[in-house]
Order: sequence, then structure tokens, then C-alpha cells
Amino acid sequence: MTSAGPRLVIVGGGVIGAATACFLAREHGISATVLERDPSYARASSALSASSIRQQFSTAINIALSRESLAYLRGIAEEIGLVERGYLYLASDAGRDALVANHATQRALGVDVVLLEPAALRARFPWIGVEDIALASLGLAGEGWFDGWSLLQHFRRAAIAGGARFVPADATRLVDAGGRIAGVLAADGMRFDADAVLVAAGAWSSKLVAPLGVDLPVRARKRDVFVLESPAALPGCPLVVDTSGVWFRPEGSGFIAGAPPRGDEADEAPLDAIDHGLFDDVIWPALARRVPGFEALRTSAAWAGYYEMNTVDHNALVGPLAGWRNLHLACGFSGHGMQHAPAIGRGVAAMLATGAWHAIDLAPLAPDRSAPLLERNVIG
Ligand SMILES: Cc1cc2nc3c(=O)[nH]c(=O)nc-3n(C[C@H](O)[C@H](O)[C@H](O)COP(=O)(O)OP(=O)(O)OC[C@H]3O[C@@H](n4cnc5c(N)ncnc54)[C@H](O)[C@@H]3O)c2cc1C
Repeated sequence: MTSAGPRLVIVGGGVIGAATACFLAREHGISATVLERDPSYARASSALSASSIRQQFSTAINIALSRESLAYLRGIAEEIGLVERGYLYLASDAGRDALVANHATQRALGVDVVLLEPAALRARFPWIGVEDIALASLGLAGEGWFDGWSLLQHFRRAAIAGGARFVPADATRLVDAGGRIAGVLAADGMRFDADAVLVAAGAWSSKLVAPLGVDLPVRARKRDVFVLESPAALPGCPLVVDTSGVWFRPEGSGFIAGAPPRGDEADEAPLDAIDHGLFDDVIWPALARRVPGFEALRTSAAWAGYYEMNTVDHNALVGPLAGWRNLHLACGFSGHGMQHAPAIGRGVAAMLATGAWHAIDLAPLAPDRSAPLLERNVIG
């Protein structure tokens, strides 16, 4: 490593690792070494994401992360193709109380969100079926979607321009020097000595720390996304989260849609095994019921990627790992890591560089938090 300053090694060059390397360079003058085993990102969540951003979370920390990240995304809106459009959460009688509780939290934290009774919902979106709807929640600002690949490349380019080194290397072992990590060993025998190590290895983070005796509840959970063509025109269509859990949003001249998987979930299920039955049996009926105009839609493509799911509370594990002097985590984003990458990268960079949280306090996401930080507003 040629730069002065601490030797920081980041395992994982996805959007989280790249964003952290970018802010280390930009705000702290530190050139990190980023180990990425697949520079094509073929299986990385960051390359397979639906890349949407919302303010409608149920926890203060996620709302704060969305607010700060949105400000960054707006600054590069053109580069990443940011479309600002709301999320629309639909609730039946069973979901009404949760929607009201989330709304109270969101309003208290300044989120621009409104509850809509069925008649008001229908007036705003005449193409939506409201028969079974008790209440809806619509984000009025600060939500939308963007091109995730462009955001990943933005952070990569900025990090490299600032002096970071992206090395194609498969990290196989964190070298345990008794309470601290002395470095990282790669499959080809290379060793990267380190003053501090950040594990940002997405869905594979647990595997990396398991040999240290650390049992992280982060698992690779496959999520299928279906690309839809439809003659239906849905003016002002937001990202809709249906009562069934099925979601859809505009994408290009069509739409994309997904749903929570059915039944028990395998760890790291093959990404090429798209569950077409999920579309036929669950997604299509829900879409046709919700939007009569969707009856003539058809799927033109599908892809799958891994949510890096924290199976305990669906929230990220971020910060120094207790019991280790220089081992940090940023993983387990459970389906909302793309939108939070700017704020997470900035915060983690500050912790690595200074030993304290600046700009944003990520302590609520501490890997050793004493109680689960349950995020109720999880999408599939
Ligand atoms: C279908 C789908 C839809 C999604 N929709 C959204 C959304 O709408 N909004 C949102 O905010 N988020 C969404 N997400 C989640 C979001 O994409 C992820 O949270 C985010 O991309 C995680 O980034 P990451 O850098 O932590 O992980 P990754 O992008 O997976 O990067 C981790 C990297 O680490 C590398 N790596 C792993 N192990 C090693 C090792 N041992 N040595 C070297 N390198 C290693 C991998 O190759 C990988 O490139 C979605 C995800 C999926 C799959």
C-alpha cells in the first residue's frame, strides 16, 4: 500500500464497500484497499437490486438513513437516473393499525407522507381497485428509484480517483492475532496486512467471520423480480406495495414486480432457478385484482438476486464488532442497502478514520445491540 495513514482493508466491493472507500478518500484522505472476488459483480446484490428508495420505514434510524442518502442521490440525480415518485402502501382491515402506527412515527420524524381513505385513494389513482382497502399511505416526497449499477460505479470511480485500490481477490481468512485482525488472506495466497478490516461482503459476510467464532444472522435469501409489459397506462404510478405483499413499480416503458417468497427459504438458493410459479400463482392474480388494466400484462424477463437478510430483525449490522479491536461490519441490509449506501458509507468511513460516529450516529445498528431493532416495514 502506498498511501500514508492507517491500512484499511475492506472485504467486498459492492455498493457498501465502494461507498465506504469513496468517503474514506474524499472526507478523510485515506486510501483503502478493497478486496472484491468478482469485479463483474455477477451475483452481487448491488448489481441485481430493484434500487428504490423510501422514507416510509418504521424505525428512526432507517428514516434518518433515507433522508441523508436522498440528499446525496439528488446531488447525482442525472448520473443515476433518479426518478422521484412515492411509495404507496395499501392496507386491508388487518393492516390498518400498523399503517397508522408507522404513519405516526414517520410524521414525528418529518416524513412527507399522507394517509388516504379509499375514496381519496381512488380519486388520486383512478386505475386502482379499492374494494378491500381500508387505508393507504402515500409518500409525497423523498421516495423513488434509480439505477443501482450507476450508483455502484459512481462510488467505485470516486473511490479509485481518491486513491482507493480495488484488488480482485477472494478473501478466505481474517487473520486472528488474538483480539485483533492482523490482515486478510486471499485464495491465491496473497496477504493484506491491516490496521482495521471492514467486512462488507453482503450476503456472504457470515461465512467470512464464522471461523472467528462469530455467528452472524445474515443469510443469502433469493428474491425474484419479474419484468412486465402491459398496455395499461397508470398515470403517476408510484411503487405500490399491495395488501398481499406483492409490489410493483414502473420501469422504462413497463413495470417490474416481486413478492415475498413462498414457504421455507433455503440459504443461497441458485439464482438461475426463478420461481415462475410465484408469478403465476401469487403475483399475477394480485396484480390483476389490484389493477384491472393489468389483466393483459405479460412477463418479458425475470432475474433474481440475494437479499443479505438479517434473519433476527431485518436491519443492518454496522460498526465495530464487540470483542475485537479492529474488526468492523457493514452487512445484513435486508433489502434496503442500496438506498442507504450513501449515508452508511459516510458514517462507516468516519468510524474507521476517527473511531467515532460523525454526521450520522449509526449506534442503533451496532452488531451487538442488546435488543432486536425490528423494522416492521419490510418489503418481501
Ligand atoms: C432483487 C433485489 C431487490 C432489491 N431492492 C432494493 C431496493 O429497492 N432498495 C434498496 O435499497 N435495496 C434493495 N435491495 C438490496 C440492496 O441491493 C443490497 O442491500 C445492497 O446492494 C447490498 O450491498 P452490499 O455491498 O452490502 O452487497 P453486495 O452488492 O452483494 O456486495 C458484496 C460484495 O462482496 C463480495 N464478496 C463476498 N465475499 C467475498 C470474499 N470472501 N472476498 C472478496 N469479495 C467478497 C461479493 O462478490 C460482492 O460483490 C435489493 C436486493 C435484491 C437482491
